[in-house]
Amino acid sequence: MHRNFLFDLDQTLLDFHASEYKALGIVLQANGLSFSDEIYQAFKAYNKSLWLELEKGAITRTELFTKRFLDVFSRCEGNASGLDPLEVNDDFIRTMSVNGVLMDGALEFVGKLKENIPHARIYIASNGATVNAKGRIASTGLDLYIDGLFISEEMGATKPDAAFFDICLAQIAEPKSSCIMIGDSLSSDMLGAKNASLDSVWFMPSGDIEAAMAAYDINYCASSFDELFEVLKRWSSAAELIAP
Ligand SMILES: [Mg+2]
Repeated sequence: MHRNFLFDLDQTLLDFHASEYKALGIVLQANGLSFSDEIYQAFKAYNKSLWLELEKGAITRTELFTKRFLDVFSRCEGNASGLDPLEVNDDFIRTMSVNGVLMDGALEFVGKLKENIPHARIYIASNGATVNAKGRIASTGLDLYIDGLFISEEMGATKPDAAFFDICLAQIAEPKSSCIMIGDSLSSDMLGAKNASLDSVWFMPSGDIEAAMAAYDINYCASSFDELFEVLKRWSSAAELIAP
């Protein structure tokens, strides 16, 4: 039975950037500082460059967290002289973890999937921090539709490694052919599905779609939740016909 749906979390069901935006605004304003779109865009760009430095081993996590908030402070109006960047960073992470933001239509989509596909099971397969993922999921009501969570931090393996999917499959305890990976990222979700020989749906594809589909052995694409629902329904019922 083709019924196990593994969903990526960020930019597939939840909007990571919208949560970040919301949390940054809440935390800065609580500390008497100004907040604007420009400040968020600058934070996002600088944060990205810091994560790349961290990946290269050029800076530590503590340095990353400190630097990103010292930079934000320098851009805000208000007095930041008494603020500890690490404390504000902790507050930011905590605030973000209880302020999940759904992708438009995501909750209706998972509800429809559960209602229309017999015995559908919805799993989250996400790289990231457990607290952040669980908190954001619970704060949106998405948790009511989810049968299991696979979060890299507590698994000791990350997408796109096949090891990540081996752990998922062992816990799902059903044939590989009963599972499909759905996500927006080529480098983690689609490459991961390829490495694990899983069926895959590339959600919100962009760029040279045909070339990417061939390179990553992608089975399907979907540019909206309506399209994704049709693709998954077809995939699950096609399997019903083949099943003895
Ligand atoms: Mg994603």
